[in-house]
Amino acid sequence: MNERLTHLLRQAVSSLSEAGTKDEIHAIRVLYLGRKGLFASFLKDLSSLPADGKKAAGAAINSVKDRIEREIEGRLKSIEDALKSGRLAMERIDVTLPGRTQPLGRLHPVTQVMREVSAIFTGLGFETAEGPEVELDYYNFEALNISKDHPARDMQDTFYVSEEVILRTHTSPVQIRVMEKTPPPIRIIAPGTVYRRDSDITHTPMFHQVEGFMVDEKVSFADLKGVLTIFLKALFGGSIGVRFRPSFFPFTEPSAEVDIACVICAGLGCRVCKGSGWIEILGCGMIHPEVFKAVKYDPEKYSGFAFGLGIERVAMLKFGIDDIRLFFENDLRFLRQF
Ligand SMILES: [Zn+2]
Repeated sequence: MNERLTHLLRQAVSSLSEAGTKDEIHAIRVLYLGRKGLFASFLKDLSSLPADGKKAAGAAINSVKDRIEREIEGRLKSIEDALKSGRLAMERIDVTLPGRTQPLGRLHPVTQVMREVSAIFTGLGFETAEGPEVELDYYNFEALNISKDHPARDMQDTFYVSEEVILRTHTSPVQIRVMEKTPPPIRIIAPGTVYRRDSDITHTPMFHQVEGFMVDEKVSFADLKGVLTIFLKALFGGSIGVRFRPSFFPFTEPSAEVDIACVICAGLGCRVCKGSGWIEILGCGMIHPEVFKAVKYDPEKYSGFAFGLGIERVAMLKFGIDDIRLFFENDLRFLRQF
């Protein structure tokens, strides 16, 4: 019997050493120590032994059983340890690996120019105002001295929501809204989105403008020239040539258009400036007395100037872009260049 026990023990130890998983070890435990396992047959044999042999045989069986039990526990523990250290190795953090960089967004070129323009005027003491993009006909036209039959109201240019409600065609209605509420002196710029029924290489149905105006006693055309010249030199560089040309707008009198020397050919003449060496950049003028009357300012006491410029146009000149539609196609290859 001892021989058979020794053989059984060796067998158990060897199959345990080959077992690689908890399930396999569990199966071995059932095979040897289970209710119908190999040891159960030894206990059956025990009953046939003489009384004096029973005790020694029983002790031998128990000791081998204990031994196998310990082997099983030991094996389970080492499998557990191996799993644990494997997990730890897998979860180990390599602090020498380079970090993952987050892709950074950037500002749209139109936003960049808008902010730059705002910053220059803020430096000149102007405050920023905003107004609605869906606007009343009154603020967009009538109060700006553009009567019902004025050609500037051409159906071709304006998006009508209803008879009296439109998408604003310029940022000038902000002038009226601010002046209605604020007595002079005022210095305001109003950047914003405007809409016109127009689409080609230099026009989009939606674009951006900055409106600016200043009203006080004794504001003159010299103030207008001074402020706009300082602004354009800050925006395009101190050496840029600037000239004022007489023009017409219903809401200013006198009116002027302002040109800068062509940024592409430096005034020599090229395709962009159509050979003239000059590029039109903004419209301006002294605020019309009829506009002051609409907001109940006394035109005898107060005077002021106003101007407006297209942001996309400035961005095109600054960045050398020849198609305005590129700004609104959301092509990241284009937008990433700024
Ligand atoms: Zn040119």
